[in-house]
Amino acid sequence: MKYCSTRNATICLDSFQAILQGIAPDGGLLLPADLREIRLPYEPLLQATSQQILKAVLNRFFPEIQIPQLDEMIRKSYKGRFETSELVSFHDLSNCRVLELFRGPTAAFKDVALCLLPQMLHAAAVEKGVTEDVTVVTATSGDTGKAALEGFRDVPGTRVVVFYPYQGVSAVQQAQMATQPGSNLFVCAVRGNFDDAQSAVKQIFRVNTWENAMGKGLRLTSANSINIARLAPQIFYYYRAYASLVQEGQTKPDEKINFVVPTGNFGNILAGYLAKRMGLPIHKLICASNANHVLSDFLRTGVYDARRDFLRTSSPSMDILISSNLERLLYITAGADEKATARRMQNLSQTGRFTIEPEQLALIQETFADGWATEEQTADAIRTVWEQEHYLMDPHTAVGFHVLQAYQSETGDQTKTVLLSTASPFKFSSDVLCAIGEQAQGDEFDQMEQLSRITGIPAPVCLSGLRQLPVLHNDVIDVEQMPDYTARRAEAMR
Ligand SMILES: *Cc1c(COP(=O)(O)O)cnc(C)c1O
Repeated sequence: MKYCSTRNATICLDSFQAILQGIAPDGGLLLPADLREIRLPYEPLLQATSQQILKAVLNRFFPEIQIPQLDEMIRKSYKGRFETSELVSFHDLSNCRVLELFRGPTAAFKDVALCLLPQMLHAAAVEKGVTEDVTVVTATSGDTGKAALEGFRDVPGTRVVVFYPYQGVSAVQQAQMATQPGSNLFVCAVRGNFDDAQSAVKQIFRVNTWENAMGKGLRLTSANSINIARLAPQIFYYYRAYASLVQEGQTKPDEKINFVVPTGNFGNILAGYLAKRMGLPIHKLICASNANHVLSDFLRTGVYDARRDFLRTSSPSMDILISSNLERLLYITAGADEKATARRMQNLSQTGRFTIEPEQLALIQETFADGWATEEQTADAIRTVWEQEHYLMDPHTAVGFHVLQAYQSETGDQTKTVLLSTASPFKFSSDVLCAIGEQAQGDEFDQMEQLSRITGIPAPVCLSGLRQLPVLHNDVIDVEQMPDYTARRAEAMR
């Protein structure tokens, strides 16, 4: 499969290079050169297992990997690591079906892709004759970091460096990373927010900068959704949810459905957009933002303006003002003006904003709806759904729920809708307790127990078990030190 940069269509890589490099040499993101090549009819998948759907999706993006090898990679990635054999679970609410994506080893949706990524990297490294170790450098808004650490723990030939915003993740998310064992893993807090950390990581990847700064010989890649190997597996969620609705007779084959997606870096929802382009009957993708609603504003006005205060919210994994994967949507919908995306990204980095043409906005709005939730509305959503339907949502999912309700009453759209639930409520016990009207007591583990006691829902063992583990990582650095930190850690392992 030929992949091209969103900033220059003449810069092309093959699938394995795309996996290994994570980002195009010019700083653009990689997409299949011809989206018609990834079409995937959903009909044959209606009775398929999750693993079969995942395999079919991956086969479209990485056709160079032989099917038996894909089978083996999928088996190894998920065996014994998820609470459900189907990797996901469902719960019906009165106005939507919840697709629960937090049944994996770190209790957030990133597990499906990040359990698989080491296998993908390994396959790519073997194919390209790469013998040196690969260093995975990742900025996290809370969940990617832990999922990457868990996925790559003690995987030979790899090491992982994770940067997270100091005091910018939940107490449980922090504990998940700080206690992570594994001889090849480094975790470091950064004095700055997620945007600062992600920009610095992207800068580290810009090949020239890197080579100038560190000398040659270190091989880096990304576990963020800028890496196509992280993004592509997420497409499976959408096919899986559609198949479940058809299987149960809630949706007729070919009937279009909506998805509402709690959004930060625009990765999960972009996977939904790709699913639509691949042929899945999707009507609207509803982009749900928290109080950092730069994306919602953009989808409404065509003006992306990141010049605003960065707010810390109860849904920290969506506290993002620069959403990387929007670049891919801009590229796909840009039409004939091939340089438009590069120009916009340059505007964004130089001035903090960019604007798209009305035609492009109209095209985007054909598929995307949007909305955002204040902190109060998020807490209200958690409380009402708990009181009325006895279902416990985490704050990210609650943002999605609020936006869905607003969308439904604003538009009257009755289309069957799936709400992606991106994390376990026990990752955010204190905020969830507070939302349902309880006073949170003690530390994050006491609160987890308290929430479990009050709701009668067991906390995932992968979270409650952290209490016994020693803290292994407590580095805190400035953003400017990130390249140096990465180099030293990568060097130390050589
Ligand atoms: C990462 C994350 C999101 C945002 O997903 P994007 O792909 O970055 O848009 C939402 N909720 C949770 C719990 C997450 O971990």
